[in-house]
Amino acid sequence: MKAIDSTELYFNRAADLLDLSDNIRTLLIQPKREVQVQVAIERDNGEIATYVGYRVQHDDARGPMKGGLRYHPDVDLDEVRSLAALMTWKTAVVNLPYGGAKGGISVDPTKISRRELEKITRAFIDGIHDVIGPDIDIPAPDMGTTAEVMAWIMNQYGKYHGFNPGVVTGKPVEMHGLPGREEATGRGVGTLTLKTLSRLGRKPQQTRVAIQGFGNVGFHTAKFLSDAECKIVAASDVSGGYYKPDGLDIPAMLRYSLQNKGLSGYAEAELITNEQVLELDVDCLIPAALGGVITSKNAAKIRAPIIIEAANSPTYPDADDELHARGIVVLPDILANAGGVTGSYFEWVQNRQHYQWTLDRVRQELDAVMTKSFERVWEVANERRVSLRTAAYIVGIGRVGRATVLGGIA
Ligand code: GLU
Repeated sequence: MKAIDSTELYFNRAADLLDLSDNIRTLLIQPKREVQVQVAIERDNGEIATYVGYRVQHDDARGPMKGGLRYHPDVDLDEVRSLAALMTWKTAVVNLPYGGAKGGISVDPTKISRRELEKITRAFIDGIHDVIGPDIDIPAPDMGTTAEVMAWIMNQYGKYHGFNPGVVTGKPVEMHGLPGREEATGRGVGTLTLKTLSRLGRKPQQTRVAIQGFGNVGFHTAKFLSDAECKIVAASDVSGGYYKPDGLDIPAMLRYSLQNKGLSGYAEAELITNEQVLELDVDCLIPAALGGVITSKNAAKIRAPIIIEAANSPTYPDADDELHARGIVVLPDILANAGGVTGSYFEWVQNRQHYQWTLDRVRQELDAVMTKSFERVWEVANERRVSLRTAAYIVGIGRVGRATVLGGIA
């Protein structure tokens, strides 16, 4: 299944319940603008390398478009389109004054040098600088991109348009970034995991958690939940899964991963595969890596009664139906991982105010936004007797739809 088909299917389920006409559906689904640019650089060895860069701007009815920039070999137009639409619903679910966008380059950042990465980033911005901006479309980090990449974007954009740090978020704190932005997605995931547990009458101390992914999101989620006394029994990265039924020593794993640039060789746990992590007998499963990992092939083998989607699009619709029918509670990506873009919003506000926020303020306001959004989605799910995913789409589509109508269509 194509990524965009899966996002549209979720959209249509909620649109059916909202009785949206076909004309309005087309208006809301179709991206506003799609840009594809050639990204050519001279590599360190003197050879020319050519990549393709995408930016899909999905919707701006509620404000400037917002969304990350992904550097990964699997990036293509279909994936970016689907992720851009997800950003529109995500910013609406948490009620940020933004629309949705996403970008990406099909490149493996682990196989090129830092200098090449910088050149690719600057060449990409050369291609798209006219269609982004603090009031138009604001990129941010995503898979394969870092705060340093965001600093290059700010600098390259500034060469054309002058100093304007609000053009990109997720920047280093020393360069107009926000304290707490880096942990924001994981913190949001952790906060909503605890809320979900509490709604279902479970105690953190009696909750066994498996986390797939130990990148920025998985790493901070693991830290937050282990501080909250959950028992993290499995964690994984590209090198495999690490399983310990009595609970992993998360602070030690965090140190190990920082020192060794990953978990490869971590010997204090049983080595299992990434697929096995998903199928463990745990109370809560958190996919925090790639999309499309829970499909009709493995849905029947999932044993966790709670799934918190820290990654974007980890569950395909046919698998989602199966999980729902089995009574498994799935907290959907557009709510669960919205802490990242919420942190980005605070950074953008900080940049526009030219005033540095404190970490305490960021955490407090992030927790407030996530909690309020969670409560609204939970309420709609109960009122309408639908899954949390459909409820989140109902909230998001409702807000975007109303803004579209209020703004007027010529
Ligand atoms: N890439 C993140 C996401 O998928 C953050 C986007 C942003 O901060 O604009 O939500």
